[in-house]
Amino acid sequence: MIEITFLGSGGGRFITITQFRSTGGFYIKASRNIHVDPGPGALVRSWRYKLDPRKLDVVFVSHRHVDHCNDLEVIVEAMTGGALKKRGTLIASKSVVYGDETHTPAISKYHLDVLESVHIPEPGSKIPVGEEEFVITPSQHSDPTTIGFRMKTRLGDVSYIPDTAYFDGLVEWHDGARLLIAAITRPRDMGIPYHLSTDDAVEMLKSMEKKPEVLIMSHIGMKMHFANPYKEARYIETVTGVKTYVAKEGFKVMMDRKETAVRTLRPARFV
Ligand SMILES: [Zn+2]
Ligand SMILES: [Zn+2]
Repeated sequence: MIEITFLGSGGGRFITITQFRSTGGFYIKASRNIHVDPGPGALVRSWRYKLDPRKLDVVFVSHRHVDHCNDLEVIVEAMTGGALKKRGTLIASKSVVYGDETHTPAISKYHLDVLESVHIPEPGSKIPVGEEEFVITPSQHSDPTTIGFRMKTRLGDVSYIPDTAYFDGLVEWHDGARLLIAAITRPRDMGIPYHLSTDDAVEMLKSMEKKPEVLIMSHIGMKMHFANPYKEARYIETVTGVKTYVAKEGFKVMMDRKETAVRTLRPARFV
């Protein structure tokens, strides 16, 4: 069984600063525990859904935009027992580890030094993570070093398409994945550069030889939020035949040999 819990589904600057949708990324429980794109609120949401960040083995950060990497250092502190144990793996874009012309690194040397391993892979690289394997996939985004992944598992592949423009070749990297999580930021007829829209998602699914069993829309931008992402999901499902869900905080996907089930968790109460 592979379990994926979303700690938010927001993306883009306006949803992030207003927290109309939370931005904590998602947590994969496979043979290892993996936090993907720990944006603002990732630490708080982890506890809210009883996902102990001290039990993480891997953090994956697609790129150096604050909605994806804000909580990275504090998640690394949790993963390393308060930065006291050398443990855990970081898989991140070059921009996250080194910064770029306009950004400092998203992680300090102090935090890098307590990690057991740091990978800054190029598309096509393969990184074993427990019984699974991460195949790194490309993106075309305003951070040109952005990376996604296709996680190969015994139950089928789980693909993550982070912020990207639609480009030739995107389909090939993700064709045949069983579960596809994609940053679909904009609604129909409102595409913007460097991000996917509903129209792009339709085009992508239609071009796939083997369509995914399930598509999960995440990284909902403000325009998508107000256009009603659930309506957009229904449209995608109707025209492509692919079961489509919209992620939200507490949304959990459980994939076993036979089926992919979903539920929405209630947040834990704190006294
Ligand atoms: Zn983003
Ligand atoms: Zn971005």
